[in-house]
Amino acid sequence: MTGGERYFDAKAETLPRRELEALQLARLRACVERLAASSVPFHRERLAGIRPADLRSLRDLARLPFTTKADLRDHYPAGLLAALPRDVARIHASSGSTGKPTVVAYTKRDLELWAELVARGLVAGGLTREDVFQNAYGYGLFTGGLGFHQGASLVGATVVPAGAGNTSRQVMLMRDLGVTAYGATPSYSLAIAEVALSEGIDPHALPLRAAFLGAEPMAEPMRHEIETRLGVTVYEQYGLSEIIGPGVAAACAIAPGMHLAEDHFLPEVVDPASGDALAEGEVGELVLTAPTKEALPLLRYRTRDRCRLLREPCPCGRTSLRIEKILGRTDDMLIVRGVNLFPAQVEHALVGIPGLDPHYQIVLSTRADRQDELRVRVEVAKGSAAEHAERAALEARTREVLHGALGISVRVELVAAGTLPRSDGKAARVIDERRRGA
Ligand code: ADP
Ligand code: ZN
Repeated sequence: MTGGERYFDAKAETLPRRELEALQLARLRACVERLAASSVPFHRERLAGIRPADLRSLRDLARLPFTTKADLRDHYPAGLLAALPRDVARIHASSGSTGKPTVVAYTKRDLELWAELVARGLVAGGLTREDVFQNAYGYGLFTGGLGFHQGASLVGATVVPAGAGNTSRQVMLMRDLGVTAYGATPSYSLAIAEVALSEGIDPHALPLRAAFLGAEPMAEPMRHEIETRLGVTVYEQYGLSEIIGPGVAAACAIAPGMHLAEDHFLPEVVDPASGDALAEGEVGELVLTAPTKEALPLLRYRTRDRCRLLREPCPCGRTSLRIEKILGRTDDMLIVRGVNLFPAQVEHALVGIPGLDPHYQIVLSTRADRQDELRVRVEVAKGSAAEHAERAALEARTREVLHGALGISVRVELVAAGTLPRSDGKAARVIDERRRGA
């Protein structure tokens, strides 16, 4: 990589920590001042008695109230809008994977900032104007499609706005247009790899080089699987519509984790139950403050995403801290026979077992004795010996691996390759039949 291409915004991305933190504090104070004086009753009431000058250091962030998804829902659709309605340039919504969608608004300047932040992440993964970028995130209210579209355009790449779905066409476009980089969810990447092979196209023979994947959790073995199947390097992307969409954090080419755009988003990690700050390096709920957005600035937004922050300086030169990995959502936690576990743990244990394909489902049900039962359905790789003779052995091995990883017994159901549903966006991995009173 040449110097000029390493960063999209060298100054902002390599700001010395002291300056970065001073900037964060200044932006936080300005935001509190603006919201306390705004016409939004929600903000005015909650900020009564807090003066920007009371915020002496970033630690004082903890004196401000949290904002939750419920607050956004309660003020649906525009109750938290901090800009004039006529200054709203665009509306998006969360995908609603956990209920009613949350509507978010952007001013023209918010859209510009958003494109810049996505561009930073793409450039960190080596995207340049020489690239042909196929955008296989869903367009529409979901922030993935337009978010990556604007970011890749700003970098100057040739953008192919394929959108999600129509997988045969995705593969055809990749081949015919000489696509070098693409964006999609991890689960859709697997579907693309599968369709390519079934149509006789070897992804390794294509110029495809980089994959910008996000919007859902991806265990490390899953990332490895995608890299191997498609012959690409994966650069993970993180974001959520309430904060801005994609562009909140993105991987660099050197170290693990994702650099958080800390000049615009101030992170904290808290205990999801008590809301108390956790010690450095502990896994907890990510809380983000977005002080620079015009239409929807948020103070201490509870993302419900679980992660740990890495503060060691990164050899890539970016001075922002990194999110090690999003391990899933706090509300994804499954309680099975009294044991707490997360779907990501299943993925981590399962993917990469020889003889299995990385397509799986987690089914929770109630046994006749009223105990919870955890079943894992997983596909047997096509052409593996386990398709026939060694099925029982593979099942036993899978059961053992899952038991070791989760600490509870699991029923394993091997199913034929290609039989579980494929997703072109966020995969729905968990089926909970317990509430249906079995
Ligand atoms: P929702 O899915 O909550 O309706 P969004 O479409 O805004 O809303 O998606 C944002 C959510 O997607 C994040 O809060 C997070 O749970 C998930 N997500 C995004 N990127 C990643 C990632 N790289 N790893 C894991 N989860 C991610
Ligand atoms: Zn880095």
